[in-house]
Amino acid sequence: MPLSFDTTYKDLDSKLYSGVKPKDIDNPEMLLLNEELCDDLGLHKEDLNSRILSGQELLEEPIAQAYAGHQFGRYTVLGDGRAMILGEHVHDGSRYDIQLKGSGRTPYSRRGDGNATVSSVLREYIYSYAMQNLSVKTSRSLAVIETGGSVRRRRIEPGAILVRVMRSHIRYGTFQYVASQAPEELEEFTDYVIDRHYPHLNDKDGKYVDFFGEVMRSSIDMVVDWMRVGFIHGVMNTDNMSIDGETFDYGPCAFVNYYDEDAVFSSVDKRGRYSFGNQKPILKWNLGRFAESLNPLFQESSHAFAELEAKLDDFEEIFDAKYDSMMRKKLGIKSDGGEEIVNEFLDWLRESRADYTNTFLELETPGCFDDPVYSSEDFKHIRNELAGIGLDKKVMKKTNPRYIPRNYLIEEALNEYLEKGDLSKFEELLNVLKDPYGSKDPNSQFQQPPSEEFDSEYTTYCNT
Ligand code: AMP
Ligand code: MG
Repeated sequence: MPLSFDTTYKDLDSKLYSGVKPKDIDNPEMLLLNEELCDDLGLHKEDLNSRILSGQELLEEPIAQAYAGHQFGRYTVLGDGRAMILGEHVHDGSRYDIQLKGSGRTPYSRRGDGNATVSSVLREYIYSYAMQNLSVKTSRSLAVIETGGSVRRRRIEPGAILVRVMRSHIRYGTFQYVASQAPEELEEFTDYVIDRHYPHLNDKDGKYVDFFGEVMRSSIDMVVDWMRVGFIHGVMNTDNMSIDGETFDYGPCAFVNYYDEDAVFSSVDKRGRYSFGNQKPILKWNLGRFAESLNPLFQESSHAFAELEAKLDDFEEIFDAKYDSMMRKKLGIKSDGGEEIVNEFLDWLRESRADYTNTFLELETPGCFDDPVYSSEDFKHIRNELAGIGLDKKVMKKTNPRYIPRNYLIEEALNEYLEKGDLSKFEELLNVLKDPYGSKDPNSQFQQPPSEEFDSEYTTYCNT
């Protein structure tokens, strides 16, 4: 099927978006095309080319969405400053936004240049690819197109466009924008989002309260999955929180190696607001801002808004139950009980700072890793205790990845491309991340954590 669009967002009030035109590019070059995603979208790769996927041949006028957001706690009116939705593509009853990132300035660009560097685009491509294969709900990347231009950041780099696919790009911050800038549209907009993402609520009494509950649940599922695989998003501003629980905006993100709940890699997150262990409280805080944006829907019923607030009060209980169930699966525990040993294990993990990913593989099959941390009496004791109630290999194999996008491997692959124009390392890494639970050579270099020194100095950046 060729790409075709049915863009319902344009039926909403014009305050919610702007019509835009992608920048002109003489020779767009397709660097990567995600063939698995083409299949999932019912698209034939022969029908896609770099001119279509860089917005040089348009099927209709693209849009940039307006939104707001709390950035590191401060409310700001934003919008797609370097992203443009080409249109909504429908396949097998599902609707997808096809969006370009790095396609030039929009009315929301503020002081930004609207561009993206090729390394940031490749980085987002590989993270989203890994997350999809790790079974974490995520935006996906359809293609990387080089623009032929150069982009000035910390260094000068070739420019590129990422073609990103999501169920929608509607975020908590879109609601914040509508509530503050177009409050008269809030009800229609909320109905639109319910119909698009939670249609089973369409005709329900009290649907706005239930909608909040569903968004909360899907966001909790997402963050618990992040904790399962050791993912740190890095910039959980409310404008980066999807209404459908899809992970997106892979900017300063990273994976935890040596277990540390305070782990932060982002250059701008000086206080650890978005550290690995803070993702739960920050999600709750973000949901509080989302709840406030829905408040005007309840003008006639303060009782209903109190019900919504009561849902937020259930956050801790729901999150903790899901986290607990996830951690028990990681430890292969199928029955009830065993709280003490789970807690003992988590304490050991905090103290030993063992590699998060490899520890579960070592528990499953002792002797995989030649690391003294696993020879300690404490670790052996935990493993013996777990053997009585857990370590179910079948459950563990499905829950614990063998391969994650190790930060140093990604950097090596990106440098290889930037310095030599050689994409083979990057492609090799993509190939490993195609099957992150697959059992390959246990001594695979792709399983090695970086040196502690590399890990402690590793820094990631926003808006690259
Ligand atoms: P992010 O931190 O990627 O979520 O971006 C926050 C806001 O900054 C969004 O409104 C982006 O569209 C905008 N932005 C980031 N980088 C650029 C850029 N190079 N040009 C224009 N806007 C940008
Ligand atoms: Mg963003």
